[in-house]
Amino acid sequence: MKTIIEPFKIKSVEPIRMTTREEREERLRAADYNVFLLKAEDVLIDLLTDSGTSAMSSEQWAAIMRGDEAYAGSRSFYRFDETVRRITGFDHILPTHQGRAAEHILFDVVCKPGDVVPNNTHFDTTRANVEATGAEAVDLVIPEGREPRSTHPFKGNMDVEALERLLSERGREKVPLCLITITNNSGGGQPVSMANVRAVAGVCRRYDIPLYIDACRFAENAWFIREREEGYADVSPEEIARELFSHADGCTMSAKKDGIANIGGFLATDDARVAQEARNRLILTEGFPTYGGLAGRDLDAISVGLQEALDPDYLEYRITSTRYLGEHISREGVPIVQPPGGHAIYIDAAEFLPHIEPLQLPGQALAVELYREAGIRGVEIGTVMFGRRDPDTGDEIAGPMELVRLAIPRRVYTQSHIDYVVEAVLNVWRRREGIGGFRIVEQAPVLRHFTARFAPLNGAAVG
Ligand SMILES: *Cc1c(COP(=O)(O)O)cnc(C)c1O
Repeated sequence: MKTIIEPFKIKSVEPIRMTTREEREERLRAADYNVFLLKAEDVLIDLLTDSGTSAMSSEQWAAIMRGDEAYAGSRSFYRFDETVRRITGFDHILPTHQGRAAEHILFDVVCKPGDVVPNNTHFDTTRANVEATGAEAVDLVIPEGREPRSTHPFKGNMDVEALERLLSERGREKVPLCLITITNNSGGGQPVSMANVRAVAGVCRRYDIPLYIDACRFAENAWFIREREEGYADVSPEEIARELFSHADGCTMSAKKDGIANIGGFLATDDARVAQEARNRLILTEGFPTYGGLAGRDLDAISVGLQEALDPDYLEYRITSTRYLGEHISREGVPIVQPPGGHAIYIDAAEFLPHIEPLQLPGQALAVELYREAGIRGVEIGTVMFGRRDPDTGDEIAGPMELVRLAIPRRVYTQSHIDYVVEAVLNVWRRREGIGGFRIVEQAPVLRHFTARFAPLNGAAVG
């Protein structure tokens, strides 16, 4: 059989409300053209993020009923601890309320001002938490990882030579740890090969620097290794994951991604001293070490979700359905970051709308247009998110790229939903020349994309 079906049937449904174009036009105006300010009930297909938006399974809901809400030493914690240790092999497991809390605690323990932390590409919360300690976050992804058209099979790989250079120039005392993010979220959800993790671990060992994995999408990364790397075609995703973790000294994890849970995360480490200091901080900011800011039932949902994320049938469906969206729009000419990543498709808005210059916000224009066309919500990753205002002149400075990310929640949408997204993108593609730009009329000093207000240029009704 060629058709890859959703490997589940649906027991509980959440209706989505159909909207008319006029309604959407009205909602856009009321939200000042910022899709973050739309109400979720006015969105038909919500591709804003894959974080915490997954559908839980019947087994996860059953596990929620087993949740043990004892303050200390709950059965839920021991089930969670056993699962995470089995998959990662690490000795000390600290639950946290989500991934960034694990990052915050780890960097607070190991980093100090003047340090430098290498990574293939830091995710934004990771970078912010490294920088909050006074350390510098350095991105060392391979050159192909910065080329939207490159079809390198492991575009998330770290540039091992650049890492060596950094370590020999700065000296090991300045590098408290090395990170590697699988898959590389900020680089388009691109995977890292086992050979690359092995090589990075080898360099780290030579310099006696601990290696930590930012493991949010470890299961999706394991599937790409199985599909693309010599020698892994017959190895189970769980064994591949265990091998990935075996090269590292610890990991941070957001269970809102490959934990298929709506909240949660953890820090795992083999270093007893780091674990002890991290537990002290955990108690201060998250909670007692056997619940770490989560309810017992959350720990149980994560424990089941981590295991389900490694199911080969699930992973084949997951990676195939993301690729399906990417291939069906790119073969009609829509420019996307190639090859399709694990959790999202990134449309290159600068190429999609070449008549709109970066400071007229082509990514924003495309995100607005997808909502106007069909009620689809994606997110701009361009000048709105990464541009800034020159502190001296007040002039706007464009971001490094103009993308619109369509992130796919896990197990939430069916193929007909994805077909609908394909149709909408292609409708917008065909009338792209009539689409106009935007300007920012109001913005916050930091993280402006969440709350900024926009206006169409020339007051033109776009599209
Ligand atoms: C989501 C994410 C994080 C942060 O996790 P939260 O649960 O959102 O705090 C860190 N790193 C990567 C790569 C992520 O995708």
